Amino acid sequence: MWLCLGSFVDKNVYDWSSEEEETDGRARPVQVLVVKDDHTFELDEAALSKILLAEEVRDREVVAISVAGAFRKGKSFLMDFMLRYMYSQASDKWLGDPEEPLTGFSWRGGSERETTGIQIWSEVFMVDKPDGTKVAVLLMDTQGTFDSQSTLRDSATVFALSTMISSMQVYNISQNVQEDDLQHLQLFTEYGRLAMEETFLKPFQSMIFLVRDWSFPYEFPYGQEGGMKFLEKRLKISENQHEELQNVRKHIHSCFTNISCFLMPHPGLKVATNPHFDGRLREIDQEFINNLQVLVPWLLRPKNLDVKEINGSKITCRGLLEYFKATAEANNLAAVAAAKDLYNRKMEEVSGGDRPFLAPSELQSRHLGIREEALALFRSVKKMGGEEFSRRYLLQLETEIDELFVQYIKHNDSKNIFHAARTPATLFVVIFV
Ligand code: GDP
Ligand code: MG
Repeated sequence: MWLCLGSFVDKNVYDWSSEEEETDGRARPVQVLVVKDDHTFELDEAALSKILLAEEVRDREVVAISVAGAFRKGKSFLMDFMLRYMYSQASDKWLGDPEEPLTGFSWRGGSERETTGIQIWSEVFMVDKPDGTKVAVLLMDTQGTFDSQSTLRDSATVFALSTMISSMQVYNISQNVQEDDLQHLQLFTEYGRLAMEETFLKPFQSMIFLVRDWSFPYEFPYGQEGGMKFLEKRLKISENQHEELQNVRKHIHSCFTNISCFLMPHPGLKVATNPHFDGRLREIDQEFINNLQVLVPWLLRPKNLDVKEINGSKITCRGLLEYFKATAEANNLAAVAAAKDLYNRKMEEVSGGDRPFLAPSELQSRHLGIREEALALFRSVKKMGGEEFSRRYLLQLETEIDELFVQYIKHNDSKNIFHAARTPATLFVVIFV
């Protein structure tokens, strides 16, 4: 049922004339980044350059808006409405005709493969802000599977990447903010931390949790205010949370300049279950439409469009292209995370919570073996940017592994019932008292 919008592309009504090369002359989503089976990223530089270096936009400051999340959670559906708003140039009547089918991100036949990666809308919108500046607005669709360990890491990495290159990340999630969703954030708060080592500024701009099919409006009302109260409650740290998730909660505020949340109602059964539904407004629940009329202008109103900043400087489309390339190449970060992961997993097997005490020399030798394995994994991941570039990351990985080892030593020691007798001072006391 989530694929049903695929057949409506032919009805695309957007008039798109400035990109002659487009086969049918219309704007469309372009896959600019894919994650391949071997977990490497592939950036379609030519496609990206064509969009970002188009003469009218390349020297304009850029607003990069990404909608990210798992497949089949209504991202395209929402983005089609965002396109309507952009094409109507923020007119009051942007929602359009009740009988008009939705078109845009949802979809041309044959493109329904679920590719973890980033698509961008081929048309960059020029918008006049109330302060007199003209900005270029880029819409991105970032998706992943988030369903198994291996796809999760790829998805989270792509997600981190789109967070780094966007000025606004809309995290599209279904029904609630689950611990899982927060876990997905964990990897990129890690990226944020790495990025912050180079600058003292917050690495990311805005993060909006967009909760779809919210079903507790009596507890937290639909919209942004209810969303903020709900999010506050959800991000509150409590003692019985897993330490890693506590850290996400702690770090998330230090990574983003703005964090907000919007609760969307269910769009109605026609939208969710009817395979012939073509996106026309008449068949969407009024409550959903009402909130859409708040959400979309809130996200895209010219006054609310924030230019992408890197280290505090506003950047242009041309600058974004360079940053995009550099960030995608910095696969090093993903390699560091994967290697640390391997180290932790194997050390847990050797000396985790339920494992017995190991002689320190034994622990040391297992550590050395596993450390080598982790470093080998890091080296084996194909990384662009060359040796020199990745050496920094290797050093960082070594330091982090050594810090982890200290924790494993402490943990192992705590299992030793003779622990007290091992230090010379206590030994002295034991013998002579
Ligand atoms: P994407 O894979 O995240 O881009 O999802 P799509 O927008 O392609 O998902 C489309 C499917 O979900 C279609 O069948 C839509 O009619 C339906 N859909 C869109 N928005 C919502 C929503 O907010 N809630 C529910 N339950 N279904 C939705
Ligand atoms: Mg989609």
